[in-house]
Amino acid sequence: MSYRDAMLEEHNYWMDGRTQAAMRASHAQAYDVKDSGPHSAILVLNEDLLAELIDEGHLSDGHSGEFTVQTHFEVCGNCRGSGKTVNPSIDASGLTSEDFAEDPDFRDDYFGGTYDIVCAECSGHRVVAAFDLERDLPGPVVKAIRFWEDSIAESVYTEAYERAHGA
Ligand SMILES: [Zn+2]
Repeated sequence: MSYRDAMLEEHNYWMDGRTQAAMRASHAQAYDVKDSGPHSAILVLNEDLLAELIDEGHLSDGHSGEFTVQTHFEVCGNCRGSGKTVNPSIDASGLTSEDFAEDPDFRDDYFGGTYDIVCAECSGHRVVAAFDLERDLPGPVVKAIRFWEDSIAESVYTEAYERAHGA
């Protein structure tokens, strides 16, 4: 593999949606989902977020940080409902029929699931719970959650971008 190809592969790996989904999942989330039933779930706010919202007077002192929200489930977009994805380090740059023709064992392994990993987005559950936070939570709480999530997405994207470009 040429140096240029190697750089390109590195680039494609970091810019791959599966890679960034795994990176986002490794951050402290804005809330945890507790007791997720068919129609509702209890969200537990991140402790730091909760403290901040109490500090700013948006939530009462001693608030548990738990909120009940309605829920529905959607097929996970990251794995398209299979619960697994191929490790992006294998095929983030795309594979061609030549890759398989040159190496039949690789072909068998690839389609046989040897390179599959548990989906970073749904943790293998195949579906993700979807909430209408705007409807079910107080405005300032939604705002704080969105801000938190945007910050994670932004820092993950920045990190991935820098790595993709050899920083
Ligand atoms: Zn998934």
